Order: sequence, then structure tokens, then C-alpha cells
Amino acid sequence: MTSKKIKGASRISPSSLTHSPTPPRSHEYWMRRAIAEAGKAAAKNEVPIGCVIVQGGKIIARGHNLRETSQDPAGHAELIAIRKAARKRGSWRLLETVLYVTLEPCTMCMGAIILARIPTIVFGCYDPKGGAAGSLFDLSNDPRLNHRVELLPRVLETECSHMLSDFFTALRERKRQARLT
Ligand SMILES: [Zn+2]
Repeated sequence: MTSKKIKGASRISPSSLTHSPTPPRSHEYWMRRAIAEAGKAAAKNEVPIGCVIVQGGKIIARGHNLRETSQDPAGHAELIAIRKAARKRGSWRLLETVLYVTLEPCTMCMGAIILARIPTIVFGCYDPKGGAAGSLFDLSNDPRLNHRVELLPRVLETECSHMLSDFFTALRERKRQARLT
């Protein structure tokens, strides 16, 4: 196990991740895969949030938000992907992985990320209403917890946030149309 120094989220830059198990492709490349997952959620009328977990230059698990479909409050993209990755690896420890997600994780998902010992997460846009990686809370770097998570926020931020805003605009329009008919 490496004993790498954890830095605060605001000071993380892509170049500071060069000693992390960063896959050879760019963060943008993997975030586009997470955005594709979010598209699968949107196609099911779910809030479009998508996640991929990468290890050794390969996606080992994917997930997209399925809260409505499964009527599961824990049906978040990250949690689904983390469970799949752990099953695939036969271990709850997801060391040497990078988790890419289109939206800043919530408290539940940050909890799972910490429990899975995921070293690095990359996310698209901040979630000021529920984010636990810098918005409402910062669980990535709490000295009371026994694991720190390196953060790289705002990767393809515009695409990720537009996906969400387009979804909610369309949802409001559908509700308006339903009231008119
Ligand atoms: Zn979550």
C-alpha cells in the first residue's frame, strides 16, 4: 500500500494525480463514459447521473441512477457501480481504482466510497443541494475518518450540468403538458 499524501480538494490539479493509479486515457475520456451511463438513466426517465469505475485503464463497473425504476433510495449510480466492482473483484476493497461520476456524490455515496477505500474520485458538476465532496459537506478529507479521498472536480462540468438542467426542463414541460390535457 502506498502512503501518498492527501491534499485538499481545492488544491488538486490533474498534474497532481500523476502518481495516482490514473488510467492512461484522459479524465475527460472516462467522464464521457460516465455521461453515456447518465444517458441510460435519462432514457428511463431517471435523473441523469452516471458512473464508471476504472482500474488499470479499463472500466470494471458501470452504474446509472435507478432510484425511480427500482424504487430504491440507495439506487444511486455510484452505489450500483461500487457493488458491481466489488463483486467483480471479489473484494470490498477497491484500491487502485478511480471512480468517475457526473455529479458530486451525496453523503451515502461518499460513505460507500470511503468504505470501499476508493482512492480517487473525479466528478463533473457540484451539487449544492446534496453534495458531500465539498458542497454541503466534505467527507473526502475529514481527519476523523480513516480514509481520505483525492478529488478532481469539474471535469466536463458544462456537459454534466447541462444534462441535468435539460432533464429537469423537459420534466417540468411534461408536467405542464399533463396539466393542460
Ligand atoms: Zn449518492
